[in-house]
Amino acid sequence: MTVKHVLNDQLAMGYAAGVLPEAFDLVVAAHLSLSDESRALVNSYEAVGACVMEECETVEMSNTALSATLSRIKANDAITPRVKPSGILPAPIQKYVGGDVDKVKWKPLGGGVKQAILPTDGTAQARLLFIPAGQSVPDHGHQGTELTLVLQGSFSDEVDHFARGDIEIANEDLDHQPVASLDADCICIAATDAPLRFNSLIPRLLQPFFKI
Ligand code: ZN
Repeated sequence: MTVKHVLNDQLAMGYAAGVLPEAFDLVVAAHLSLSDESRALVNSYEAVGACVMEECETVEMSNTALSATLSRIKANDAITPRVKPSGILPAPIQKYVGGDVDKVKWKPLGGGVKQAILPTDGTAQARLLFIPAGQSVPDHGHQGTELTLVLQGSFSDEVDHFARGDIEIANEDLDHQPVASLDADCICIAATDAPLRFNSLIPRLLQPFFKI
């Protein structure tokens, strides 16, 4: 599958180094299961990391270092994409939901738009969004980084058109109003590390209730 909108270097490097917040890690892992190009980019940064490790001076390790490392790798399996997705939700997301889209516990946001916040740790938050065909989400800006990965259908905004596997990386410089395409309901996963800045009153008033 050819994915048009892929990771930037900063995110690929952060993912390879394991320093992203869990919510961002999850969105990137899901994107990697859909984009060969981004997977190759992350692999190249992992290779750079391995070279740096080899150049490091050797130090004495404790007896438990190996088993501790192995158990960390095992724990990290939850968000490491290995298998190609068989449903709408890629495997890393299915682990949080307990299955595919039919298992998602949606909460209405109005206008047919629904969300489900996923249980990730840390300051960043991950949510699944359901936007009915032809429906828009309120016009907004960002106070931090927002990663949006399309899982079903597609949407368009001021930047471009985004379809399954595409990731949109938005920051303080972007104000946009994503609109789902008319041909299918759009399902996305979005991660944010700061509240959105809505440009109209009603969404701003409702914002605390929806934790968005
Ligand atoms: Zn946004």
